[in-house]
Amino acid sequence: MLKNTSAAYLLITDQQDLQGLPDSLVNNALQAAKARGMDGWYFTMDYPTVSAFLSQAGNREKRMEMRRIHRSIGMMTPETDNREVLKEIVNLRLEKAQLLGFSSYADKALQGRMAANRETVMDFLNELAATALPAAREDVKEIEEYAQSKGLQEPLASFDIAYYDNQLRQEKYNFDEEALRPYFELNQVKAGVFELAKRLYGLRLVQNEEIQVYHPEVEVYEVYDENNRLLGILYMDFCCRDGKGAGAWTTGFRYQAKNDGENILPLINLVYNFPVPGEDGSSLLSFYDVTTFLHEFGHGMHFLLSNVNYASLSTMGVAMDFVELPSTLMENWAYEKDFLHLFARDYKTGKPLPDETIDRLIEMRTVLNAPGFMGQLQYALLDMGWHTITKPVNTAVGDFENQILKDTHYLAPQPGILISPNFGHLFDNDSYAAGYYSYIWSDAMQADVYGVFKQQGIMSRKTGEAFREKVLSKGASVDPMVLFQDFVGRKPSTEALLKQEGLLKDTN
Ligand SMILES: [Zn+2]
Repeated sequence: MLKNTSAAYLLITDQQDLQGLPDSLVNNALQAAKARGMDGWYFTMDYPTVSAFLSQAGNREKRMEMRRIHRSIGMMTPETDNREVLKEIVNLRLEKAQLLGFSSYADKALQGRMAANRETVMDFLNELAATALPAAREDVKEIEEYAQSKGLQEPLASFDIAYYDNQLRQEKYNFDEEALRPYFELNQVKAGVFELAKRLYGLRLVQNEEIQVYHPEVEVYEVYDENNRLLGILYMDFCCRDGKGAGAWTTGFRYQAKNDGENILPLINLVYNFPVPGEDGSSLLSFYDVTTFLHEFGHGMHFLLSNVNYASLSTMGVAMDFVELPSTLMENWAYEKDFLHLFARDYKTGKPLPDETIDRLIEMRTVLNAPGFMGQLQYALLDMGWHTITKPVNTAVGDFENQILKDTHYLAPQPGILISPNFGHLFDNDSYAAGYYSYIWSDAMQADVYGVFKQQGIMSRKTGEAFREKVLSKGASVDPMVLFQDFVGRKPSTEALLKQEGLLKDTN
């Protein structure tokens, strides 16, 4: 995949074929061509470039070409064709699982996870697909009708969806997310999130400038509970800088445990890549940044509020299909007026973020979501297909994949395009084999959990305390299914997620 990704490219030589593409992308492509001594515009196959191209390039032929080249990664040349390799991998995984007494690799991998067995995972995915597939077909119909109104003659293809979806959103909703930034100045967002931690969990965060840091930009907070008991230390590393890894993540220098009755305090580090502050010292976040802030803060709460005996059973050891629950749960507050009213004010004028804008944000959250959601389900189903085999696979990879996905299409599949040969999650190491479903699983769990907060008031200290006590404090010391049921009061259901994604209309 790496070889193909770095070798493959789309070269455009006619300026007219660039129509619709943003200047920054075009400039990068021009520089990339120059650097290689080529004339024209050289588009690389990294994901940000490909997705920006597919959602904005007005030239349909070029979109088709981009998609075809990108999708051939993993089978571009005979010596880099992954198809036989991945068959060997799944067959060896099966052999390993059977040596250990399991009937399939999935049965082995699911040990210790919340879903526990493959029947539960399959029922879960199929139940979601039963609602998501018709919804995805509806959304595709809407996009296709829109595309036809814009002159598309051919049936809508996979390489058209992102493009017309993008146009349709802009036209229908005319919503400029960039205009939100002045309302999300970093220090204000931070104050809002800290206030949320106070209301939900009774926490007080006090900056300590004495504690040593790995970089002067890192801020350190002591985290106290309502009884002034120190629970742990939170390191926050907010903005981009040279040499810092991309993205956002939570890590720790030490995890909570008890040693002969003495509580070992967790030292937890949240890392972000927010915009470098301007001359006036203010970093203006996007709405997506705000949800990211909340996401990692949710992981942080899980680590800081852990109250177990052994470090191996603290939050570090939580099952992969449960560990994203506390983090994705926190993202929900970004869509709540009561939360946004705490801090979302124009950093210059102090004017609050208008309620109509918040309404629009909430509305946009569920628009045309079904195709993307169904795509994720396809990935999860394909993963389970490969890892629930009980006999070695002998058929061709393409036939196997088509067989698994045949009833899940919301758009006519394009011949020759395959997912498996470049599905790195499944085959570059074992961690996501029979594990891709866990993204959707923990999302369903958090939507269900959030329903409890919604019911009892999203700022309810009582609900926060119950969640802290019954879920966050337990780390990996109790079966996650038990924790879930203890808090929600029943078994998990897919309904809350389907509603949150806008795939099931709320009948209340
Ligand atoms: Zn996460």
